Formats: sequence, structure tokens, C-alpha cells
Amino acid sequence: MKSVLITGAAGFLGSHLCDRFIAEDFRVIGMDNLITGDLKNIEHLFSHEQFSFYNHDVSTFVHVPGELDYILHFASPASPIDYLKIPIQTLKVGSLGTHNLLGLARAKKARILVASTSEVYGNPMVHPQTEEYWGNVNPVGPRGVYDEAKRFQEAITMAYHRIHDLETRIVRIFNTYGPRMRLNDGRVLPAFIGQALRGEDLTIFGDGSQTRSFCYVDDLIEGIYRLLMSDCPYPVNIGNPDEISIKDFAEEIIKLTGTDQKVVHKDLPEGDPEKRRPDITKAKELLDWEPKVSRSEGLKITYDYFKGLSKDDLYKKEHKSFDAFFR
Ligand code: UDP
Repeated sequence: MKSVLITGAAGFLGSHLCDRFIAEDFRVIGMDNLITGDLKNIEHLFSHEQFSFYNHDVSTFVHVPGELDYILHFASPASPIDYLKIPIQTLKVGSLGTHNLLGLARAKKARILVASTSEVYGNPMVHPQTEEYWGNVNPVGPRGVYDEAKRFQEAITMAYHRIHDLETRIVRIFNTYGPRMRLNDGRVLPAFIGQALRGEDLTIFGDGSQTRSFCYVDDLIEGIYRLLMSDCPYPVNIGNPDEISIKDFAEEIIKLTGTDQKVVHKDLPEGDPEKRRPDITKAKELLDWEPKVSRSEGLKITYDYFKGLSKDDLYKKEHKSFDAFFR
């Protein structure tokens, strides 16, 4: 049986990856320090004999007993609110954490895939974004801690590939949504759906003309799985090119939820990219991958998930672990 270490296992994407690799009959070792992750996302796996879990911060030395065939590094705060609150942890997990996991991959002769992001393109001057575009990032702006950590992560991953001949993969993930997103992480989709469910107005930042392109989580996981199994060491965009303005997106959520609330405008956060859409030519050619789930289908499933959460979850302002972590 092949084995895989998944960091960030209790997070949104990490937990879906755990499910996928269990289904593919892997031995799955999940790791998370639970600062933004939630054990609820993987509690259904605890009784599974192929699954084990370590509560560990990968920014410090990582030890895993036995053999490892693959490592997926998905540990990182990943929403603007999170990395504004915990900027140093964000920098450390992308830099020191990646370094530790590359070292582990070398020691175990494992293939490693690291989770990068469309944020490496910053506020892009090229549209849609191709992998060849180097980006427009402000290193000292509020998003710099995430963007530069991920850019460093890509650089050190390529260096390990070139110097140590390590088998490496880099996925550049665009906005993704689906069940197990945190309702209170500040990202636009849980923010809008949470507001609709609580009977509050929907908060559009700025005039809402900025665009994003939202990919349903199952499509993303399929793309990542294919990339891991491919032989491509260079970054590959995985995302859904169906682009929409935030203003129109708010209208879609209002229709979907049937809320009679309105939209209100708030200041646009500093450094908020004006547009974002992946060019997925590479993923199509190399991985024979493209997204299959339309926004209307994906949003319906996601709304059903959020509707099923408790009142407590719905009104919780902050992730419980933040307080515990800083005590
Ligand atoms: N946004 C918004 N209202 C909210 C939360 C976010 O208008 O309550 C906007 C935000 O300014 C950005 C877009 O929605 O332009 C997507 O934000 P998100 O935090 O989901 O992710 P980003 O793509 O900016 O990392």
C-alpha cells in the first residue's frame, strides 16, 4: 500500500485530499497544528485503519516513522483575514515548513507536491494568468506575507528539484469553494452565505467590479491528483476560468439563498487584486483536466452544507483555535 503525508489535513482542501487518497487506497498520514484547521473536517476518518493523525506544526522539524511515497504540503493560513492576523506563522509555514518537508521528502525518497496560489501573480497585469507570468506583488503590503511565502516556497521547491533531483510538483490554486470552508474565515463565499443565513446585508468590498473565478473543490482535488501523478515539475494553474465580478456574485447568492437582504458597500481592502482568472491551457494539455462542475451546481451543494451547520457555528465570530494558540 502506498503512503502519503498530507499537511494541513484538518483544513478545507487538506481534508478533501485525505478523503480522496483514502478512496484511492493509500495509507494517509494527516498532520495539522489546528490553528486554522478543524478536527471536525476529518473526524469521520479517525476510525479508518488507513488513517493516522499528528497534531504538529510543520514549521518545526517534521518526523514521520516508516516509509513515505508522497507528501502534499497544504498547511497554511489561506484567507486574507487569517494571514493578516497571523502573518508570522504564515511566513514560517510557507518557508521553514516547506524546507522541512522538502528535507523529509529527500530522506524518504518521496515525491512532494506543494500548494501554491494565484496570489503569486499579485494584482495581475496579464489576464488571464498564464504560468509564464511572473506577477505583480507588493512584498510589504498586507498580502505580502502570504504571497512572498508562496513565492519562496516555489523557489525552494525548484531548487531542491534542480540540486537534489527531488521529484517535485507545484500547483497554483485559484479561488476554490465547497463544503468544509470555514464560515468565519472572511472569504467572500462563506461571508455572503453566512450573511444571508443570519439575515444580514451582504458586504461588498469596494464597488464590486473586481473579479474572481471560483472552482468547485471536487474539480480542484481531481486536478491536484492528476498533477501529482504526472511528470511535470513546473507550476500548473488549477482553477475554473469562469470569471465573475463580486457584484454579480452577490446577486447569485441572493437568488440562491432567497434572502430579502440588500448589498452594502465597505472599503476595498488594501492590495485586493482587481481581477483573477486562470489560463488552464497547461492543465488541459498535460493533465487532460478541466473543471466539470458549474458554479450553479457547486453553489447549491455548498449552500446545503452551510445550511446544515449549527447556530453556534453560524454566529461564531472567530475560529476557536486562534485564542487558544496565542494564550
Ligand atoms: N469580498 C467582498 N465582501 C466580503 C468578502 C470579500 O466583497 O465580505 C471581496 C474581496 O474584497 C475580494 C473578493 O471578494 O475582492 C474575494 O475575496 P476573498 O477573501 O474570498 O479571496 P481573495 O481572492 O481576495 O484572496
